[in-house]
Amino acid sequence: MRTVDHDETGLTHDAALAARLQRARVELEARADAEVRFDAGSRAAYSTDGSNFRQVPLGVVVPRTIDAAVKAVAICRELGLPIVSRGGGTSLAGQCTNAAVVLDFSKYCHHLVSVDIERRRCVVEPGIVLDDLNRQLAPTGLRFGPEPATHQNCTLGGMIGNNSCGATAQRTGKVVDNIASLDVLLYDGSRFTCGATDDAAYAEVARGEGRRAEIHRALRRLRDDHAELIRERYPEIPRRVSGYNLDSLLPEHGFDVAGFLVGSEATLVTVLHAELELVPVVKERTLVVLGFSDIATAADAVPAIIEHEPIALEGVDRYLIRDEQIKGMNPQGLAELPEGTGFLMVQFGGDTVEEAGRRAHGLLDALGESEHEPEVVFFDDPAREDELWQVREAGLGATAHIPGRPDTFEGWEDSAVPVDRLGDYLRDLRRLYEEFGYASDTGPSLYGHFGQGCVHTRIPFDLYSVEGVAHYRAFMERAADLVASYGGSLSGEHGDGQSRGELLPRMFGEEVVGLFEQVKALFDPDDRMNPGKVVHPAPLDAHLRLGRDWAPRQPEPLHFTFPDDGGSFREAANRCVGVGKCRKLENEGGTVMCPSYQVTREEEHSTRGRARLLFEMLDGHDGGPIKDGWRSTEVRDALDLCLACKGCKTDCPANVDMATYKAEFLAHHYRHRLRPRADYALGWLPVLARLLRRAGLVRVVNALARLPWLRRLGTRAAGLEDRTVPAFAAESLQEWWARRTPRPDGPHGRVLLWPDTFTDQFHPEVGKAAVEVLEAAGWGVTLPTESICCGLTWISTGQLDQAKRQLRRTVDALADHVRAGGLVVGLEPSCTAVFRSDAAELFAGDQDVHRLRDHTVTLAELLTEHTDDWEPPPLPVRGFAQVHCHQHAIMGWEADQKLLGRTGADIDHLDSGCCGLAGNFGFTAGHGEVSRACAEQTLLPRLADAAPDEVVLADGFSCRTQIDEFDRSGHRPIHLAQLLAEGLRSSAGTTERPAHREEGPR
Ligand SMILES: Cc1cc2nc3c(=O)[nH]c(=O)nc-3n(C[C@H](O)[C@H](O)[C@H](O)COP(=O)(O)OP(=O)(O)OC[C@H]3O[C@@H](n4cnc5c(N)ncnc54)[C@H](O)[C@@H]3O)c2cc1C
Ligand code: SF4
Ligand code: SF4
Repeated sequence: MRTVDHDETGLTHDAALAARLQRARVELEARADAEVRFDAGSRAAYSTDGSNFRQVPLGVVVPRTIDAAVKAVAICRELGLPIVSRGGGTSLAGQCTNAAVVLDFSKYCHHLVSVDIERRRCVVEPGIVLDDLNRQLAPTGLRFGPEPATHQNCTLGGMIGNNSCGATAQRTGKVVDNIASLDVLLYDGSRFTCGATDDAAYAEVARGEGRRAEIHRALRRLRDDHAELIRERYPEIPRRVSGYNLDSLLPEHGFDVAGFLVGSEATLVTVLHAELELVPVVKERTLVVLGFSDIATAADAVPAIIEHEPIALEGVDRYLIRDEQIKGMNPQGLAELPEGTGFLMVQFGGDTVEEAGRRAHGLLDALGESEHEPEVVFFDDPAREDELWQVREAGLGATAHIPGRPDTFEGWEDSAVPVDRLGDYLRDLRRLYEEFGYASDTGPSLYGHFGQGCVHTRIPFDLYSVEGVAHYRAFMERAADLVASYGGSLSGEHGDGQSRGELLPRMFGEEVVGLFEQVKALFDPDDRMNPGKVVHPAPLDAHLRLGRDWAPRQPEPLHFTFPDDGGSFREAANRCVGVGKCRKLENEGGTVMCPSYQVTREEEHSTRGRARLLFEMLDGHDGGPIKDGWRSTEVRDALDLCLACKGCKTDCPANVDMATYKAEFLAHHYRHRLRPRADYALGWLPVLARLLRRAGLVRVVNALARLPWLRRLGTRAAGLEDRTVPAFAAESLQEWWARRTPRPDGPHGRVLLWPDTFTDQFHPEVGKAAVEVLEAAGWGVTLPTESICCGLTWISTGQLDQAKRQLRRTVDALADHVRAGGLVVGLEPSCTAVFRSDAAELFAGDQDVHRLRDHTVTLAELLTEHTDDWEPPPLPVRGFAQVHCHQHAIMGWEADQKLLGRTGADIDHLDSGCCGLAGNFGFTAGHGEVSRACAEQTLLPRLADAAPDEVVLADGFSCRTQIDEFDRSGHRPIHLAQLLAEGLRSSAGTTERPAHREEGPR
């Protein structure tokens, strides 16, 4: 088989290419209803997928309609430009990265076109996200069966491209088993619908003229001439994903041309619509988890278990468990595991809990086990089942970037073998790891869809040196031979792309691969569709994202110390593994990431897109699209809509911390230069507020800010959005404190209440309520009265020298208190998060900073973890909490939940993500629309639906400000301190209600 280094075709170095691209851009803008992006930033954002490969695209086209996509392909054809389709971009084998024009279907072409409940079918556009589709189908009781682990963000077009599946394949099979027909476009512009074709239908099609007939005839001929070869060389295993689906053309599979095109990875056709076969939703499930002495022994048990017809059967080993423990992932799920070091998770379904339970017990009886044995756990509670399922689903994210260990990579991440040989294959694979020096007492982990013989793993390849890359190649070749010797498939799930394309002859033999080449020549004779993938593949060690030539800049000196990345911004910028979780559209489970993607649906405004741009900014491969390092306007623009909500720091499986990277970037970008006006106005707010108060001007400012024309003028001059300006309190918290009679220590001792600028200057009633609660709980309170600040506003605007100066003064001021073991209570989540996280990253190794970090608590943490035998007041209230994004990311809401539970309050954690204001973000000019759109996703609709007596808990000043401005339901958000103070007064029989706001914006 011939392999082609795509760059050797001359396309990317063609002197005329620039002119052709310029023409393409003009033509596309004029003739296609699409967003046309040939700029450096967009090309950088799309330069890789979830794989080890990187190819900067020629340009990106985001069609607004399917017709526009057809038009875009026509224009690319006129100019001879290669194309590649893209959905979620989560591919792992390099099939979604190419030096081609990328057609991104995910932003606009994501409609569910029709549903036929009776025939259990629906028609979709290719950009629809699987979870979104299943949400829309939910009322019908039907769903699309195959479900990759990336279900929150993978698209149907990409699933079809890759022939995807996942744990549910045990019951429903792969995509190829669930497609009725496809509406496809060839590079030459022909478009037709295809599917299973019986003899009569074939005869009719074959009689016709044009490409459709020609292709059907040619495929039929190829099938007839080579049916025996195909039968012989295609392994009869459930997870054969490698290679084109020539077997779908066999008579026993109904000459299914749609099935044949599934898994062709955009190398043959562009899918425009798909008619999907749907399955009934499983009503009830039970889960049995079995523990074994090791993972290979667990695999040996699989054949006996599948006889009991589970709907999913997954394997998990001790290394994966340990990786999750190290990363603090899924603690509840891990705690539920039975004894053992290799586990099988066996799921049964049924119409009733009893039916599903009966099946599970049938398995246990057959194994001579009971649910009471230590190596068995049995669940029929969906919530607990989900926790355990998370342990398995987190696989790839969990095994990437383990602190203190070499990075692991895909490449051999989804091989599959016959189920009855799985145990032996795992033993041999482990031996191969040992032989190549990849095995250690920490991995590599082996887990996956054991019920179908599919094994996942990430391997610590050295993809940085010439020897390491050669070693990787040698391993891949040996592993391919090993899997072929087992009658298995190189890929059991993720496809061939470039990782496995060149290995296909080892699995199928040259003759079958020759058939792949024939098919490619039939559909795409000029090799313009995703060239270099699957057929005539580029070598598996070409176009590596890292590779022996990778030599990124090492920008220094840095402001943050990046302790989890060995102090290296390069390592930090290389964290993203491309899972695409930051492109999910819902915030279930209280997650926050990534608000800007959720409202813009732009790759560039996802965490991943930004991470790609930062990676390109370091210019590890000469000639990348971003040329000017920290000064890059492309990177600045991509970071502009990052809310710095810190959602990704917690929610991203690789813990990409974009808020920190943004602050670091802005500090360098504007070094020795004037910044946007808003950075001064908002960054210096703490100083400005104190100056105004000292000058006795706060009432005047409040009055002036209420005059719309003046406010407009003022905000414009300051580079801000024209929106309601929070009013200063008549008296600051520190002023109130200064005139308050000092109280003695309480029985628990003394805490320091941190007077953050927002509580102090704008909402002192929150601080007063906190003092009341703390004293009631038995604490004496100290409140600093000097002008000190945590530096938050300077951090979020990237004014890091100033931030460090502020923080230094504060750390010094609080040093005596924390050195003596005193606690600091933070009320404003973002300021508390500075002490708990940012400060230590700015001053790594500084003991006072570390003490401050370790001694700073939220109010709820203080009252649950440090205040023995205090009973909070009963709170007979209901409502919901808008949890601040920094609280979610750094402190978490568990303590609040626990405390509220003890009061009897019925408060839901709203799955609303970031409120959209996020400190300075929503106030900065140009951010208003995105800021409001974030709030409109869940928060504002929930407020509109809330009953008048519902409590709206919002500890964040930003969240309260956002609600105050945009909510029309009349709810007044309050801080936890205020709710507790109110409860104390009610239980003491005091009728006086605490002031919720002394002077508000309305
Ligand atoms: C952490 C992680 C876990 C994963 N787990 C699984 C898993 O459990 N099961 C699984 O199967 N895969 C898995 N994958 C791989 C990948 O997520 C899936 O294959 C997914 O279905 C790809 O969808 P996508 O929208 O991201 O496709 P993309 O990556 O965008 O595209 C996939 C392929 O389809 C092509 N394509 C996209 N749109 C079209 C179109 N309109 N017409 C023709 N071709 C098109 C692309 O060119 C590409 O070749 C995983 C990946 C990651 C990173
Ligand atoms: S930023 Fe995180 S969630 Fe997004 S693709 Fe990268 S690793 Fe995945
Ligand atoms: S900080 Fe927030 S907005 Fe920025 S990339 Fe992370 S999740 Fe997205």
